[in-house]
Amino acid sequence: MSPALKSRAVILASLALAWIVGSGVLPSKPPELSWYKGNLHTHTINSDGDSSPDAVARWYKEHRYHFLALTDHNYLTDPQGLSFLFGASERFLLITGEEVTTSFRDAPVHVNAFRLSETIQPASGQSVQGTVQANVDRILAAGSIPSLNHPFFRWAIDADVFRAVERLKLFEVFNGIPDTNDEWGLEEMWDGALSAGREIYGIAVDDAHEFKQFGPDRSNPGRGWIEVSAAELTQEAILEAVERGDFYSSTGIKLAALTRSQYAIDLRIEPTGDEKYLTRFIGRDGKELDRVVGLRAVYRLKPGDGYARASIRDSAGRRAWVQPIFGS
Ligand SMILES: [Zn+2]
Ligand SMILES: [Zn+2]
Repeated sequence: MSPALKSRAVILASLALAWIVGSGVLPSKPPELSWYKGNLHTHTINSDGDSSPDAVARWYKEHRYHFLALTDHNYLTDPQGLSFLFGASERFLLITGEEVTTSFRDAPVHVNAFRLSETIQPASGQSVQGTVQANVDRILAAGSIPSLNHPFFRWAIDADVFRAVERLKLFEVFNGIPDTNDEWGLEEMWDGALSAGREIYGIAVDDAHEFKQFGPDRSNPGRGWIEVSAAELTQEAILEAVERGDFYSSTGIKLAALTRSQYAIDLRIEPTGDEKYLTRFIGRDGKELDRVVGLRAVYRLKPGDGYARASIRDSAGRRAWVQPIFGS
């Protein structure tokens, strides 16, 4: 082959490769990610809620949530009919859920299960820790995802129990019911588990029971939610992203941007009114790694940090939590 022909062949080969890449035959770039807002803990008249599954799903859809899990006590409220009525591609999704509900002596043990096809019966144990573990394991054995609910409700779960539970990746760092005692050291307990090597993420939920009358003492919707970064609005994509910690939890603070890699958290807050914002980055043993006042906060993980997570508070008392990163 002459040099001219040879270079022509190389050009043609490069063009062919470019065409293959461009046509999607070879994987070229990761899928586009979007933010989806949702609530993973709510009740209906199928347990102790005051409204029908229809009314509850309607409330969330009309308030611009993208996804919702109905989690009745020891009952799977089948969302199939609701999905037919309210489900809409990329707009609204119902995720299957149940609040697996039991107690050890007077300590309530409530563990949510997501992604299930039939009711999961609660399991019992020989201690609070054993009861939590038995229910976590039963939910996992069913192919579902467990999340430990309202740990400080009636002071059921203490730091030793929380740190000792295995195979648990989610818990409620915020629950919208007024008497769940969330403000009493729940984040410190989270840091205790993270420092012990647990990879556990904190979700904010409504645990709403009341949709007819609203007031500060009632368990109303709209108080705590998660914003999930996922490729599409499907049960699998949302739950996989949640299990990776690709979300933040909120009681009102909205992030305009969030990059959460293995090594860094980079966030930008969307301001409302004239509120001021404090972001605290927290690491091993609850140590404050940095604090930033303002709308942009960045933290790069350093050797010895153990992990880093962000806890944000504004001057009106609203909160947000970015999930921990663990380095390599
Ligand atoms: Zn509960
Ligand atoms: Zn509940």
